[in-house]
Amino acid sequence: MPISVVTGGAGFLGSHLTDRLLQEGHQVVAIDNLITGNERNLDLLGGHANFRFLRHDVTQFLEVEGAVDYVFHFASPASPIDYLELPIQTLKVGSLGTHNALGLAKAKGAKFLLASTSECYGDPLVHPQKEDYWGNVNPIGPRGVYDEAKRFAEAMTMAYHRYHKVDTKIVRIFNTYGPRMRLRDGRVVPAFIGQALKGEPLTVFGDGKQTRSFCFVSDLVDGIYRLSQSNFHEPVNIGNPRELTILEFAERIRRLTGTKSEIVRKPLPVDDPKQRQPDITRAKKILGWEPKVVLEDGLRETIRWFEANLDSPARK
Ligand code: UDP
Repeated sequence: MPISVVTGGAGFLGSHLTDRLLQEGHQVVAIDNLITGNERNLDLLGGHANFRFLRHDVTQFLEVEGAVDYVFHFASPASPIDYLELPIQTLKVGSLGTHNALGLAKAKGAKFLLASTSECYGDPLVHPQKEDYWGNVNPIGPRGVYDEAKRFAEAMTMAYHRYHKVDTKIVRIFNTYGPRMRLRDGRVVPAFIGQALKGEPLTVFGDGKQTRSFCFVSDLVDGIYRLSQSNFHEPVNIGNPRELTILEFAERIRRLTGTKSEIVRKPLPVDDPKQRQPDITRAKKILGWEPKVVLEDGLRETIRWFEANLDSPARK
């Protein structure tokens, strides 16, 4: 039975990935310091015989007893308001945390998979974004703490691959949504759904003409699992190429929830990317992967989940 370590295992993506690995017959050790992760995501798994949770900050030396076959490094704050609140932790988990996670993989002879991000492309001047685009990132802006940490993490991962011959993979994750997102994490999907369900105005930042492309979490996890089983070492974009403006997205949420909420404008955050759409040619070719869940279906499922979880505490 393969043994997998998932850093950030109590987070939105880490917990869904953990579910999938358990289904695939892995033993999973989830590691999380719970600064943005949520223990409630793990309650669902708590009783599983093949699941273990370690509360630990991965920027500190990582020790896991026994054999490890895979290390999935998913620990990081992941929403723009979290980077503003936790800038140093964000930089540390992408740099020191990645170093420790790679060190664990090397020591155990395990395969390693890095959760990287479309933020590596910054505010992209190439559209849609292909993996060979080097990006347009402001290193000293408020998002720089996340973007540069992840770019460093990619560089460190490739160095461990080339120099130490560790079997590494890098996934560049585009905007993803689904059940278990934190209601107040500030990202657009929980923000709009929460506002719509509570009858509050939907806060569109800027003129709402900036675009994003939203991938349902089950599709994303399937792409990541396939990548973990591949022999491909360069970055692979995983995301849904269906692109829409934030204003269109707000309208879609209004329609699907049936809310009477108005749309209000708020200032555009600094360095907010104007457009984002993954080119998934590489994932199709190498992994035989493409997303299957239609936006409206994924949103309906997400809305149902938020309806049942509207009372969650402030930071969760
Ligand atoms: N956004 C918005 N209203 C909100 C939250 C976000 O209009 O309440 C916009 C934000 O400015 C960005 C897009 O939605 O253009 C996606 O933001 P998110 O924080 O989800 O992630 P990003 O893709 O920027 O990392």
